[in-house]
Amino acid sequence: MSPIISVSKLSKTYGSGFKALNNINLEIHRGEIFALLGPNGAGKTTLISIICGIANLSEGRVIVDGHDINTNYRAARAMIGLVPQELHTDAFESVWATVSFSRGLFGRAKNPDHIEKVLKDLSLWDKKDSKIVTLSGGMKRRVMIAKALSHEPQILFLDEPTAGVDVELRKGMWEVVRALQASGVTIILTTHYIEEAEQMADRIGVINKGEIILVEDKASLMQKLGKKRLTLQLQGKVETIPPALAAYHLELSDGGRALTYNYDTRGERTGITSLLSDLRNAGIRISDLDTTQSSLEDIFVSLVQAR
Ligand code: ATP
Repeated sequence: MSPIISVSKLSKTYGSGFKALNNINLEIHRGEIFALLGPNGAGKTTLISIICGIANLSEGRVIVDGHDINTNYRAARAMIGLVPQELHTDAFESVWATVSFSRGLFGRAKNPDHIEKVLKDLSLWDKKDSKIVTLSGGMKRRVMIAKALSHEPQILFLDEPTAGVDVELRKGMWEVVRALQASGVTIILTTHYIEEAEQMADRIGVINKGEIILVEDKASLMQKLGKKRLTLQLQGKVETIPPALAAYHLELSDGGRALTYNYDTRGERTGITSLLSDLRNAGIRISDLDTTQSSLEDIFVSLVQAR
């Protein structure tokens, strides 16, 4: 299937001379949730602003469902809903009026049934006549999403949808986003919360200093780069690690009742088999063991630091 968004050789230099994006190549698959993950100032907002036609590109090309954003802006833009980082909307309008008005901005004929569906999907139906100013922060964010969906876009950009939002609300937002995906919308979200990318995304792109340093399927990313930790509970207590086991770089924990061993799942050998036999030879008996996978956070930090 052709990608729904195709970005090629995209660069952006701001008027100040600062190069915020450098030769970005990226394809977004139809129907996926794609998380663009990167530290502050990495270029996430710049990239989505260009795709959404809010900022101009300096070099390269962006195609949205076959439409070039430069030469066919209106058709490309009509495909896209954007929920910006900052909440800005008319505080004294009702939810219904605000969302209906947004649809009008795209030149689409009135469709109260669609607006009703969007408000119901976002659990805002009982607030449709409330003024925005009277809503909670979480409701306001959902109004922003409703506005972005008012013209029936096939692609939704969420720029840091849960920045500064409490854990409860964040989980609620994730559910909303998953439901949107189930309804056929392709979703691109930017975040610097690794947990958010880990929870939500089908694929993850990591951007740092204006360059995409990795794009990968979330599961394979975690497997490919993931380090694992093996914890061995010991039958007795060990005061020091025998020198014969030095090569494994084991760590003693739990007051000498546990040993941990870090290994790389990418390696040809994990070293576990020989470790277990060397432990037996050293007279160390094991009562239990378990393994844990490193989180995306570890992967992300090591990727960004490696640059
Ligand atoms: P954050 O996570 O903090 O929102 P971001 O990844 O979205 O960051 P951008 O907002 O895209 O980052 O900014 C990328 C870089 O471009 C930053 O160094 C920023 O200072 C710079 N930048 C952004 N807008 C402009 C502008 N209008 N003029 C000059 N430089 C800019």
